[in-house]
Amino acid sequence: MFRKSIYKTPAQLRAMVEPGLITAAALDAVRALVRPGITTAELDAAAERVMLDRGAEPNFKLVRGYHHTTCISVNEQVVHGIPGDLVLQAGDIVSIDCGAQFQGWNGDSAITIVVPDAARPDLVARREELSRVTQGSMWAGIAAMATASHIGEIGEAIQEYIEAQGVSEVSGETYGILREYVGHGIGRKMHEAPSVFNYRTPDAGAEVRPGLVLAIEPMVTAGGESTFVEDDDWTVSTTDGTDGSHWEHSVARHAGGIWVLTAPDGGAAGLAPFGVTPVPIA
Ligand code: MG
Ligand code: MG
Repeated sequence: MFRKSIYKTPAQLRAMVEPGLITAAALDAVRALVRPGITTAELDAAAERVMLDRGAEPNFKLVRGYHHTTCISVNEQVVHGIPGDLVLQAGDIVSIDCGAQFQGWNGDSAITIVVPDAARPDLVARREELSRVTQGSMWAGIAAMATASHIGEIGEAIQEYIEAQGVSEVSGETYGILREYVGHGIGRKMHEAPSVFNYRTPDAGAEVRPGLVLAIEPMVTAGGESTFVEDDDWTVSTTDGTDGSHWEHSVARHAGGIWVLTAPDGGAAGLAPFGVTPVPIA
């Protein structure tokens, strides 16, 4: 059964450190390039170059029917946007998702960036707040993994964090959590059991114990929770046209604690507000 196979050995956890760091480096390269006038295809190429230079390959290209290194989702697109001719504009909110496979092991991580726009401070503030709330909910979920006994506690923490934000002070909006798309186990494959819901569920879910590696990835909107898939058969956009944000890290629970594989500091900065200190994998 899945239940037995989802837990990795310490040696397998150590093997997942490098693909995590390569994934982080690819996103750093993209972050440095985001500006008005650049195309999403150019960002995709930069991420691929980092992976190939470090002897890794983009695991998104191993997904049947997908031919790119990243997914790049802009404004009302939340996830699974396809890089291409789209030119980024000042003020856009852009989510970039990618993963590296290195020596048979995978990383998976996503960030959201708001393209600066001096002419529209209100728009930028609203979108940065959405990104901050989404990112904060991810860290709340990761922090929960440090002490959780079951995976359900992670989704609980994510939903609680978002609900605690209440109504946006900037826009008066409340936030929605995508329900149809969830986090997942990760290891030899990018997508493995178990699912990691970003909300409360009736089931406690699988046991959280040393050897578990999860991609924790809340997808949050500045409005409703309903989405549809665009005509390209990939891009997931909000039905009400409100903005979306997506943040993701791959996280290992090991004998000493947790370590965020896709963060060079193991998640120290993001976890500090939650009183959790990550511990390197021995
Ligand atoms: Mg991802
Ligand atoms: Mg993922």
